Amino acid sequence: MKIYGNQTLLKQTARMVSAGREPHSMIIHGEKGLGKKEIAKYIAAQLMCEAHTGEPCGQCRSCRLIEKGVHPDLIFAQPNDKGNYYVEDIRDTIVADAPVAPNEGDIKVYVIPDLDLSVQTTVQVQNILLKLIEEPPDHTALILTARSRETFLSTIISRCVSLAAAPVTMQESGEYLQENYPDRDITEIREALEAGKGNIGRCRAYMEKEQYYNSVALAKNLAAAYSEGSEYGVLKALAAADGKKALLREGVYLFSEIVRDSCALLTDGEVIGCDTRAAEALSRKLTLSAGAELYDILTAAVRRIDANCSLSLVCNSLCAELF
Ligand SMILES: [Zn+2]
Repeated sequence: MKIYGNQTLLKQTARMVSAGREPHSMIIHGEKGLGKKEIAKYIAAQLMCEAHTGEPCGQCRSCRLIEKGVHPDLIFAQPNDKGNYYVEDIRDTIVADAPVAPNEGDIKVYVIPDLDLSVQTTVQVQNILLKLIEEPPDHTALILTARSRETFLSTIISRCVSLAAAPVTMQESGEYLQENYPDRDITEIREALEAGKGNIGRCRAYMEKEQYYNSVALAKNLAAAYSEGSEYGVLKALAAADGKKALLREGVYLFSEIVRDSCALLTDGEVIGCDTRAAEALSRKLTLSAGAELYDILTAAVRRIDANCSLSLVCNSLCAELF
């Protein structure tokens, strides 16, 4: 089982395990794509490996079952197709199950991923888990994940070990792409690397041509059209996202990052967006104040999309403000 990056976090849990101070309740937080579920699985292996060294040996029965995704004592909670957990499910499959001894080894690990996406039941789920977190049986561990630590109630945070998932280095995401997509063209790998930077989930989404790929394409088209001063080009790019809220939001947001990068280039700052060349092209056209103004216009458009304004209205007013 290989985890790219996040070694500081994993060493922290490894030390706790090797010292016999296994954490019973953990929170893993960090933005989408940083591999929180993979980290949870790895920590489960640290806790369940029969060698008890803090490093999963990869050889014992526990490690092998976890790797295959079939360990009966590693239980991932399942939300419905909208991402919501049913409170009754959590009660029956976790809270009521916790006192029962493990099937295989000395510990059972429950993982509840993406709790922030369970919009309708985030608080109820945490409330129902509180007693288990306060008085966990020796043979259980619970791992909750969310994009932000803010998702969690203070009563939960104060009783859990908080672990922040971090982006990996460009070298590490490059390694990931080369190892997982050995047959792909190097140009495509480079594009994915630049589009996703240290977020492996985004690199992968780009390679798999998932929504992130289209969002990056939209941001690049917007940046190119704006650099050329083409109002028609901007309208055409926006029209491609007509009616697709998530795509439009992410595309405009990524464009705002390119604009921010173009300002950073004017002040020798760091470039973090999905397309450095587009940021360079823009930085040759914009002054710092014009860049800041453009950035504000785009940020306001993202806020309007979040506030559920009509998408065609957002696109039209964005175009009017840009030219
Ligand atoms: Zn092992």
